[in-house]
Amino acid sequence: MCILTTNNPPSGIVIAIDGPAGAGKSTVAKQLAGRLGFAFLDTGAMYRCVTLAILRSQVDPADEQAVASLAEQLEIMIGDERVTLNGEDVSKEIRTPEVAGAISRVADNIAVRKLLTQLQRTWTQGKQVVTEGRDQGTEVFYDSPCKFYLYASSEERARRRQIELDSRGIEMTFEEVLQQQNRRDAADQARPVGALRKAKDAHEFCTDGLSLESVVEQVESICREKLAASGIALSSGRSPTTNSDGADHG
Ligand code: C5P
Repeated sequence: MCILTTNNPPSGIVIAIDGPAGAGKSTVAKQLAGRLGFAFLDTGAMYRCVTLAILRSQVDPADEQAVASLAEQLEIMIGDERVTLNGEDVSKEIRTPEVAGAISRVADNIAVRKLLTQLQRTWTQGKQVVTEGRDQGTEVFYDSPCKFYLYASSEERARRRQIELDSRGIEMTFEEVLQQQNRRDAADQARPVGALRKAKDAHEFCTDGLSLESVVEQVESICREKLAASGIALSSGRSPTTNSDGADHG
């Protein structure tokens, strides 16, 4: 347990943002982290790294044990601008439709989830972090004082995703993007462990038709209020960061 007072610099604060693909989580989480002076953790990138490693290996994705033991041997580093897998920069490779299409099986693997949950908890220990994913407020950081659930209509999310893929030279029709997204949503919601759902105490935002800037403003103000109410004073933070790395705006 960590006791926070106004006199001590706060430690170990995790702000958890969950929601389906394309709801704007990455952009909001990254910008919020910049404004608060917190670190940013993209947990989807961790699942994507394991999936990429499986696709590159001889391991059968259906072989749960083999997938889990391969995952244990990987060295995954999630930086603000770069994601590395065993030292190789895979920031672009993990965002392909092939990885997105194969990820559900890896994310369903309970041993992989356990491993990544542990890594996420270790990585954030003693730090001030904005984290985003599917299970951050419900499972991994269920005791987070600030939880958010971002969503948007399927069409709006697929439209954003198609624009993002297009900007990276990946051609997919709107229908293809929507179908892949629907499949991923269904798998994310149905998984027995770590399923996508809103935490009871999460603030909910529908980002349809909203500028992500205005969502960041609202989320920041809720965080500052909630943390101040718990006696945690935050610095004014850095200026907002922009998502210039072409990342998937999950
Ligand atoms: O957020 P992103 O779209 O990069 O996540 C890719 C996939 O990784 C999700 O569709 C989900 O299957 C899995 N994931 C997860 N738990 C998380 C983050 C991502 O199961 N915390």
